[in-house]
Amino acid sequence: RAKAKGKGRYEVFDPTMQTLAMARLQLENDLRRAIDLLPCSSTASARQEFCLYYQPIVCLSTGKLSGFEALLRWDHPSLGLISPDRFIPIAEETRLIDDLGWWVLQEACRQLKIWQQQFPQKPPLAINVNFSAVQIKQVDLLHRIEEILRESAIPITSLKLEITESCILETLDWEEKTLKQLKALGINLCIDDFGTGYSSLSRLHEFPIDTLKIDRSFVSRIASDKDDTQIVQTIVTLARSRGMDIVAEGIETLFQLQKLQELGCDFGQGYFISMPVDKETATELLARKQILQAVLQKETKT
Ligand code: C2E
Ligand code: MG
Ligand code: MG
Ligand code: MG
Repeated sequence: RAKAKGKGRYEVFDPTMQTLAMARLQLENDLRRAIDLLPCSSTASARQEFCLYYQPIVCLSTGKLSGFEALLRWDHPSLGLISPDRFIPIAEETRLIDDLGWWVLQEACRQLKIWQQQFPQKPPLAINVNFSAVQIKQVDLLHRIEEILRESAIPITSLKLEITESCILETLDWEEKTLKQLKALGINLCIDDFGTGYSSLSRLHEFPIDTLKIDRSFVSRIASDKDDTQIVQTIVTLARSRGMDIVAEGIETLFQLQKLQELGCDFGQGYFISMPVDKETATELLARKQILQAVLQKETKT
């Protein structure tokens, strides 16, 4: 009887839901396997499925490269490139993000050291690394970060940790203490996707934040929406008064770039300036130093 009932239930079960659940489970297994392939040391493995891409962050007034944001890429053996928006949430739920996140930080710092030696500049080239809410909750966070910084021997101030606004708002007391300790070490803390978390701007001073990254959604509406230009202006003014840097994310057009320059936004990144690129291409960009000029020249030619 129970079996018959079970079977009956099975029939009302939406088959597309089952397919989705299976795909999710498959992806989780593949993720676990790919993470097992990660080298513990920095020696590259031939079967490595993860790599970092780097998107330039440029100073909007000088056009110079100030750093890169490291963005994780997963080249799945049969599905090809999978977006981090799809696999990071799975990695978080399953806590696979712990190992994966440490690898990202290690790899980003190791690469930064190479670039800093190859291309000394003042201030030294910086690296932005994304950290999710789950990662901030790790108890040995501070210790591990210190260890990686020591191993890679980069100046502590050239590491910038990006934490989303919603993560910051949800921090508990002890996590806030962790953030303060990170800041005390000299690490630069950035709020990623700023403007999407509905935080009241006045609460910002409670957190030890160095940089605001204005979410792409505001930047993309600059062309059409006067109100959003106003919002960006307000954020820039506020960040200024608190001594924070501002980075505009997702700059896709010349118009947006010029508008952001007018508004006094310090830094920017986006497809208009450069897509995220592999480390070889990033090295070529570094050799150029002047990024914006080249982009603008190309724009006026076409
Ligand atoms: P994010 O940190 O806000 O990164 C910016 C995302 O916007 C990146 O997507 C980047 O490729 C994309 N982007 C950059 N410029 C433009 C533009 O002009 N237009 C548009 N439409 N998009 C642009 P990506 O690489 O797919 O990463 C998505 C998200 O996944 C990231 O958002 C970040 O939250 C997360 N993520 C990526 N790598 C890591 C990582 O190593 N660790 C953790 N915890 N999260 C990561
Ligand atoms: Mg980010
Ligand atoms: Mg962002
Ligand atoms: Mg994002």
